[in-house]
Amino acid sequence: MSAATSTPILDIHPSAHPASAEERARRMTNPGFGRVFTDHMVLIPYKEGAGWGRGELKAYGPIEMDPASSVLHYGQAIFEGFKAYHQKDGSVASFRPEANARRFQTSARRLAMPELPEELFLDSARALIRQDRAWVPSAVGESLYLRPLMIATDALLGVRPSSEYLYLLIASPSGSYFPQGVKPVTVWISEDYVRAAPGGTGFAKCAGNYAASLVAQRQAKGEGCDQVVWLDAIHRKYVEEMGGMNIFFVYREKGETVVVTPELTGTLLPGVTRDSLLQLAKDQGWRAEERKISTDEWEAALQEGRMTEVFACGTAAVITPVGRVKSRKGDWLVNGGETGPVAAKLREVLLNLQHGLIPDTHGWMTRIL
Ligand SMILES: *Cc1c(COP(=O)(O)O)cnc(C)c1O
Repeated sequence: MSAATSTPILDIHPSAHPASAEERARRMTNPGFGRVFTDHMVLIPYKEGAGWGRGELKAYGPIEMDPASSVLHYGQAIFEGFKAYHQKDGSVASFRPEANARRFQTSARRLAMPELPEELFLDSARALIRQDRAWVPSAVGESLYLRPLMIATDALLGVRPSSEYLYLLIASPSGSYFPQGVKPVTVWISEDYVRAAPGGTGFAKCAGNYAASLVAQRQAKGEGCDQVVWLDAIHRKYVEEMGGMNIFFVYREKGETVVVTPELTGTLLPGVTRDSLLQLAKDQGWRAEERKISTDEWEAALQEGRMTEVFACGTAAVITPVGRVKSRKGDWLVNGGETGPVAAKLREVLLNLQHGLIPDTHGWMTRIL
């Protein structure tokens, strides 16, 4: 029997069968991304009228659901992704988790779901990380990936916002996204599919956005590419994102380094990494711009040698350089297909910051343990 203890927020029921130290060590060796899960998870139910109920931290495992559950039919589902990092001094800290808590609320509003209070979001993360602290990897570039999600659980086929929901939090030790070192990707500019349209759900981190993107991702693979680049839905010419990441372009103008990322129009997902890199670029003394950038400008700037690098960014892979761009119209190399110095520098600074190896001048780290 495991002892049950309570906090004001969550009932803690530790797993009766946590992985042994050897089993854990085995599963944490080259864990990849999102394949290995820790011993525990958090669940918090919501009921219209009653609000958020008493949550529970318990052994990781399957959840039971009615087959009529609204999420399975109409896709009322949102999620988040952030990480906990081992610090030089042995503590564990997370990078800007309150930004994820707020974005989770923004996503919930768009999907007509209840907002999880920021404190509950952060407390659930603290409780799970504390319980599964042995699963936080210690190497730089490795981390514990936290995946909060919320689903509609009404067992009713009528189309309307559910009156009951379930918030869940799971955690996954994640290795370096690129164990063999950062390797630039080849991208396919999608002219057949769009990810998000004005008035739609592009700015929300909802499951449906991903479901709708898979066929374009498959097409990109068919064209020999690793990732898809999304264009705006109206003109089909302004770059929005790359796969599930934000995108940056680096220019060399009159001896100055200029870092450009598409402006937030409502159809882009406002990435925490994107926002952080804009600041870190300025810290390097570079100019940082948010504006529209068309595929024509992209091609011309590459050909004229004004654009020196392209890279994508997000929590999972941090920074992914783009080495080659393909579309129906042609095929261009970026920086000779190699990782450029700006992407490499930003990646190094961000990772060092996240692991507490350099001073946290922007107050972005939240100590967990
Ligand atoms: C999550 C996500 C990103 C990156 O956001 P981060 O907060 O930096 O992890 C970018 N684009 C899409 C579509 C996403 O879902």
